[in-house]
Amino acid sequence: MFNESSHFDTQAIRTGHRRTAEHEHGEPIFTTSSFVFDNAAQAAARFSGDEPGNIYARFTNPTTQAFEQRLAALEGGESCVATASGMSAIMSICVGLLKAGDHLLSSSSVFGTTTVLFEKYLPRFGIETTFVQMTDINSWKSAIQPNTKILFLETPSNPLTEIADIRALANLAHENGCLLVVDNCFCTPALQRPLSLGADLIVHSATKYLDGQGRIVGGAVVGNQQLVGEEIFGVIRTTGPTMSPFNAWVALKGLETLSLRMKAHSEQALKLAQFLSTQSSIKKVFHVGLESHPQYELACKQQSDFGGIVSFVVKGGREAAWKVIDNTQMLSITANLGDVKTTITHPATTTHGRLSEEHRNLTGIEDGLIRVAVGLEYIEDIILDLSRGLDNLI
Ligand SMILES: *Cc1c(COP(=O)(O)O)cnc(C)c1O
Repeated sequence: MFNESSHFDTQAIRTGHRRTAEHEHGEPIFTTSSFVFDNAAQAAARFSGDEPGNIYARFTNPTTQAFEQRLAALEGGESCVATASGMSAIMSICVGLLKAGDHLLSSSSVFGTTTVLFEKYLPRFGIETTFVQMTDINSWKSAIQPNTKILFLETPSNPLTEIADIRALANLAHENGCLLVVDNCFCTPALQRPLSLGADLIVHSATKYLDGQGRIVGGAVVGNQQLVGEEIFGVIRTTGPTMSPFNAWVALKGLETLSLRMKAHSEQALKLAQFLSTQSSIKKVFHVGLESHPQYELACKQQSDFGGIVSFVVKGGREAAWKVIDNTQMLSITANLGDVKTTITHPATTTHGRLSEEHRNLTGIEDGLIRVAVGLEYIEDIILDLSRGLDNLI
């Protein structure tokens, strides 16, 4: 029988499903808004918290709980709360753990919408954010204030695949009475387990690799029972960005193949990065698995593989970048990532288009930059499709 010490791949397939009286093999989807009590006394006991169990699907749902338990096991965390999206996962951390007068320290290289949340919305509630250069620990150190509560980062970063030293930042956070929050979207627990490196909370956009086939929007927070099981759960059950049971089921089934897919994405992305590095129309290639990557050594220590994201800067700025994108015939021009279908994006005018020019310059989002989230089509077909535009540039 499998148990909590079982291998990652076994837990990814087996953890979380509590078989019902129907003896089903596949995990069922519980499409119900509420749950029925045996009698009035049981209803009262459930509502008062004296008796554990389901009440209402904004709080808990067995399908969603199966996903939460499985993801918690894979990340090595005590508790997981699933959310309607990755952004609501991040918002629930801010609402649950920060108050007016608190300060947040964030890597400048985080998801574009995360920056908007920190820059535009949190200040309305008296929470200020300072953005720092992620790879430079001194940049973090010198920005910590007495009221700093959270250090937030994404590693590898989007789209430039910079790597932060999670253990060093966890130590820094704890020395200063702060929590370290890591958005583990790009690696997933199949390649990197930040809790084991000292991080306090993990954020996921389940929309990406956890689903893995671009079907749903979802998110999750993972961490200890106190922070996640109490604080974050409290926010979600009160404010309502709950993950729907159908979406939870899709993500749950996605976890079953996560490890295989992440290996395949990594292998394909490395091949593409190596090909792009030989192209004369390209100024620079960003991929964690290239030995020329500035934090290659750290990546080898911290991750078990390099992931599926490859970014590159073409010579000729925005015009050239758009030409490469518009000349593809198979790749999907879409901002999503983590899909078996390869996607291609121009960050400066899409995902990072809402950032100020100053912030874009700070994060190195050049006009000639293209991001490819390498899917699982035959790699030579992906290379051929990108070559159509690249060969035209010279
Ligand atoms: C997509 C993404 C998010 C936001 O997730 P949604 O599911 O779109 O709300 C957060 N962080 C990273 C790194 C992402 O790629």
